[in-house]
Amino acid sequence: MKNKFPKVRGKVRFNEPLARHTTFHVGGPCKVWVEPSSEDELREILRFARSNKRKILVLGMGSNILFRDKGFDGIAIHLGNKHFKKVRFDGTRVTAGAGAELGVLVNAACRKGLGGIEGLVGIPATLGGAIFMNSGYRGNISDCLEKLKLMDKAGGKTRIIRQKDIRFGYRQSNLSRYIILEATLRLKKNKRKMLLKRKRDLLKTKKWEQPFGHFSAGCIFRNPNNKSSAAQYIDMLGLKGKRMGGAEISKQHANFIINLKNAKAEDILRLISFVKTRVKSRFNVNLVPEIIII
Ligand SMILES: Cc1cc2nc3c(=O)[nH]c(=O)nc-3n(C[C@H](O)[C@H](O)[C@H](O)COP(=O)(O)OP(=O)(O)OC[C@H]3O[C@@H](n4cnc5c(N)ncnc54)[C@H](O)[C@@H]3O)c2cc1C
Repeated sequence: MKNKFPKVRGKVRFNEPLARHTTFHVGGPCKVWVEPSSEDELREILRFARSNKRKILVLGMGSNILFRDKGFDGIAIHLGNKHFKKVRFDGTRVTAGAGAELGVLVNAACRKGLGGIEGLVGIPATLGGAIFMNSGYRGNISDCLEKLKLMDKAGGKTRIIRQKDIRFGYRQSNLSRYIILEATLRLKKNKRKMLLKRKRDLLKTKKWEQPFGHFSAGCIFRNPNNKSSAAQYIDMLGLKGKRMGGAEISKQHANFIINLKNAKAEDILRLISFVKTRVKSRFNVNLVPEIIII
């Protein structure tokens, strides 16, 4: 594939370990890691993948993904080039590239006295990944989304789509046919000081609730319903601290698995399967992973 791969100005690496690009810090190599530097280059990569029957996967910060130890036999596309990270404010609207870091965006919005996304503080994501997953914390990012610029994975065509024409659900969207290129969010004017304080307070709460500073992929399982959380079931079984290889169910938050030291994806997968079996047999509840396993 090395000889045939399109010449792009952006970064290209072959057999790149995905452990370097996920917050779990696990996962074998992908065939190609590419960071296109323009929409034309992205289109060219899609065309190459199509004509050579190669799988593609768009990767943000890899904070919701578990790659298996054997890796990904395809092309991992990351919108990390500055072309896809531009942020521009216009009144109460902000338009940003899908590769923009959520933390940077949240901070800039609060500093400009624009509220609505401060709950997303501390989520290690790109804007594109956050929209695809409909990320949130006491509210979802789709709540303040106005429109998206998308590229069709199949044909490379771009289009604009308005929020009302997208289906968002709990940590999901119906955008899998597309690559998100850019998003416009509509924020609300508020006092800068108040927003910065709210952001600080929320981060403090999250640091208390979640194992910050450890390698993880956030919550492993979806909450089974509105009344009970996956963490409650795991906690009731006394599984906090349970270890398999280098992976551990966080002692701080039962729905987080952390990579303690040199965990393999296999250790994490065994722990996930163990939790599912125990929760099913004790409570007759089917836990479904929120993370994407590849
Ligand atoms: C410490 C920690 C705390 C977290 N806290 C929260 C939280 O409070 N709330 C919450 O909702 N989540 C949380 N998460 C989970 C995770 O950060 C989010 O789901 C986030 O949206 C993933 O963003 P990402 O850019 O890393 O996407 P990735 O994990 O790289 O990708 C996730 C999915 O999005 C797709 N995708 C990524 N970019 C694009 C694009 N441009 N176009 C189309 N598809 C794309 C990928 O193909 C993949 O299917 C947390 C994770 C960690 C590690």
